Amino acid sequence: MPLIDIKDVSRRFGGLAAVSHVNLSIDQGEIHCLIGPNGAGKSTLFKLIIGVYEPSAGTILFDNADITRERPYARVQRGMSIKMQAPSVFKELPVWQNLDIALQQQRSGDDLVMERQRLLELLDLAVHDDKLAGALAHGQQQWLEIGMALALRPRLLLLDEPTAGMSPEETHRTGELIKSLNRDGMTVIVVEHDMAFIRQIAQRVTVLHLGQIFADGTLEQVVSDPRVEEIYLGKAHHV
Ligand code: ADP
Ligand code: MG
Repeated sequence: MPLIDIKDVSRRFGGLAAVSHVNLSIDQGEIHCLIGPNGAGKSTLFKLIIGVYEPSAGTILFDNADITRERPYARVQRGMSIKMQAPSVFKELPVWQNLDIALQQQRSGDDLVMERQRLLELLDLAVHDDKLAGALAHGQQQWLEIGMALALRPRLLLLDEPTAGMSPEETHRTGELIKSLNRDGMTVIVVEHDMAFIRQIAQRVTVLHLGQIFADGTLEQVVSDPRVEEIYLGKAHHV
């Protein structure tokens, strides 16, 4: 049974169909990568899944429940969380307090303190816990945001360009972290451009183009499709 089932979902902004008749179901336990050129509709699809936007048409099921019109808060309670593309750490607050803001939704007391410490260590931020989030390196801010998403104990984790601004080594460590979360049972959907990173983590890949699903399959199937090369990889090689 799919964990998330997107059925004929569209989202228009004025005259623009940012997401158009998308059908996508993702199984429990999958690491699923969503790729496609800028403006393809990847971030919009994520915002439809988490409930920042409502679809203009279509249905979204999470764990077989219809969540199409549910508020983001209710979806988080059901077990999903997101790291958005645009940075959203509280830059003027210390690292630990950023985590606490997320942790406080479900924990308190010693339980909260222990989970904070576990996340700080998991994300290599323990030595920086008193630093202002805005003073962290870009990659560390991304990790902090991933930590804030993890603090909500998701079964489904959505990561929109999590490795932007990271060194190759940080990117690789992020991939290993995602794989280890997945081994513990988490379903993860990742939007990324970095093909080495996608190769490291992806179990299945969906290509979005002009708001529509353009290709879907294993990474090998998708990259050997000449149509994909044309719209996405071809372009990427020229940047
Ligand atoms: P991607 O993440 O694949 O780069 P987006 O989902 O951010 O693409 O954007 C898809 C299209 O929808 C783009 O043409 C973008 O300009 C447009 N778009 C996204 N959000 C809005 C919005 N809130 N209002 C109007 N247009 C939007
Ligand atoms: Mg985007």
